[in-house]
Amino acid sequence: MPDKIRGNTDGLKAALLRATEEYIDNSFGPGEFAPGEIVDAQTAFTAETGREIAFVLDRRNYVREISVGDKVHVDAALTGGKDRGLSGTRLLHTHPNGTMTASEQDLETLTRCRLDAMIVLGVAEDGTLTGASAYVIDPEDPDKTLRAGSYRREQLDRFDGVWAMVREIDAALRVRDANSEVEAGGMERAVLAGAVPEKANIIGGDNAVLDELSELARTAGAVEVDRVTQRRDRPDVKYYLGSGAVDNIKSSVRTNRADLVIFDDELSPSQIRNLENALDVRVIDRTALILDIFAARAKSAEGKLQVELAQQKYRLPRLTGKGTELSRLGGGIGTRGPGETKLETDRRHINRKIHILEARLREMTERREVLRKERRRKNLPVIAVVGYTNAGKSTLVNALCDSDVFVKDELFATLDTSVRRLKGAKNQDFLLVDTVGFIRKLPHDLIESFKATLEETVYADLLLHVVDASDPDCDGCIDAVENILDEIGAGGRPRYLVLNKCDKLGAGDEVYISDRAKHTYGKVMRVSAITGDGLDALADQIRLFFTGSSKRFELMIPYADGGSMAELRRLAEIESEEYMEQGIKVTGSMPSERLPEFSRFRL
Ligand code: GDP
Ligand code: MG
Repeated sequence: MPDKIRGNTDGLKAALLRATEEYIDNSFGPGEFAPGEIVDAQTAFTAETGREIAFVLDRRNYVREISVGDKVHVDAALTGGKDRGLSGTRLLHTHPNGTMTASEQDLETLTRCRLDAMIVLGVAEDGTLTGASAYVIDPEDPDKTLRAGSYRREQLDRFDGVWAMVREIDAALRVRDANSEVEAGGMERAVLAGAVPEKANIIGGDNAVLDELSELARTAGAVEVDRVTQRRDRPDVKYYLGSGAVDNIKSSVRTNRADLVIFDDELSPSQIRNLENALDVRVIDRTALILDIFAARAKSAEGKLQVELAQQKYRLPRLTGKGTELSRLGGGIGTRGPGETKLETDRRHINRKIHILEARLREMTERREVLRKERRRKNLPVIAVVGYTNAGKSTLVNALCDSDVFVKDELFATLDTSVRRLKGAKNQDFLLVDTVGFIRKLPHDLIESFKATLEETVYADLLLHVVDASDPDCDGCIDAVENILDEIGAGGRPRYLVLNKCDKLGAGDEVYISDRAKHTYGKVMRVSAITGDGLDALADQIRLFFTGSSKRFELMIPYADGGSMAELRRLAEIESEEYMEQGIKVTGSMPSERLPEFSRFRL
């Protein structure tokens, strides 16, 4: 019996259900708000069965879910993922009694699930469509609804005008939600600003380049209230953006009562100063934002030192003559040499601090080196899991190791490198290293100071590069990670590409990966760390990689030598054990360098 359809399918023909199921994960009439093909299919279904049928469509018109029966079902997973704005999904369903007016319950579902729209199709007794109505959420009061339009079958294309309403409602609700979040959580209100290259073609409009910055800001405790972008290839020397954009930012700061402006790039010290003077509000750049997030998240002593070092290096050239923020730290009476200005004292202070931090980190690096040697001695292969932030690295490590690494839908949930043991094939264990997420324009000082931690990556036997395959720009993310791998000297390590979050892809969705990337990787695999799909195959591949450098053996272990047998079981991948007169005949494979220890048992 087909089982992808939810709800009350009792007594319906298997053939009909199978045919209906075919719609799931396929896209219909791109751009149409009420796709004719789907409307007709739903009408026919209800005419034949007398039951309601509901389709959940996303904005690319993929059918995400179908349910049958009078209780309209919307999976929370499809709509619950977003905290702000609309869900990005809409629901089309039939009414067998011919009415195209939404019921109380329909409207309650619309507001509760924050649907883009609820579309009701009236199916008359004789099986024909009486007409369709679309309802949307009232942007003024998200608990109320509005009827966006009602049309007959021949007029379905008129619903396309509802798209524009949906976009407006989405924007209005985002601002509304941001406001209530600010009130509830004491978050700061930020205007985001950035430049877009002249010739760039940005899917979703220019403002979409700031999506990631918006996430970063949230992670740091600021809520986006507006975005300002400007097309330009070279930054303005004085203000980074041109005067038109600066004016826009200024009026946006005023109307949105913003506490700060965040730029999506690193600004020069003088640009920050000029902007703060012009805008009369705090200005920070992407680098400061990322440093701030890292500072709040570092947990290990080493991580904290690394972040502090990067922060001090960032701060050094940005000391202004006023030196206000440093007055606490500044030397005070007695520490200042004759004629020395406050600024110089501050510089010296920071430089001293940088030296101390560097010395402490060196010490830790040495200790790390000892640990690494220890691991080598024990012959534990090391696998480093790398990838763009939020790609699902920690989730994957957890899924493979049954352990708990902190997973959160936030950028940089994992900051400190953590090492887990992967319960390997039989006796072969691996160490799996979860690393900090990589991100575009990662501040250089930060990479520098994290090098020690990232060395786990450089010395790993195998890298697993995890990618969020559902990200439209996953190729760009692969690039960003590759660049960082090169920079830290891990560019040459053998590596597999792991396309994660495949559960979020439609059945026919292709993941675009450039040929260059494909060539870099020994293997490309699709998995879902959440559903577990593909994880067994991944584990097999990992095993294969390591047994590749191991040697096959055929040994005869005397019954009296139980110790050697135990050691063998621990060490080797055993294929067969045969109990013979002289002892146990064992075949299998093990790391080639350990084989000599067993040479006396060779057959
Ligand atoms: P990291 O920054 O790379 O370590 O990413 P996390 O492991 O912290 O995961 C980031 C978010 O992606 C979390 O909300 C996870 O639940 C989610 N996630 C991870 N793997 C999958 C997957 O296979 N499918 C889906 N749908 N979500 C996933
Ligand atoms: Mg993580």
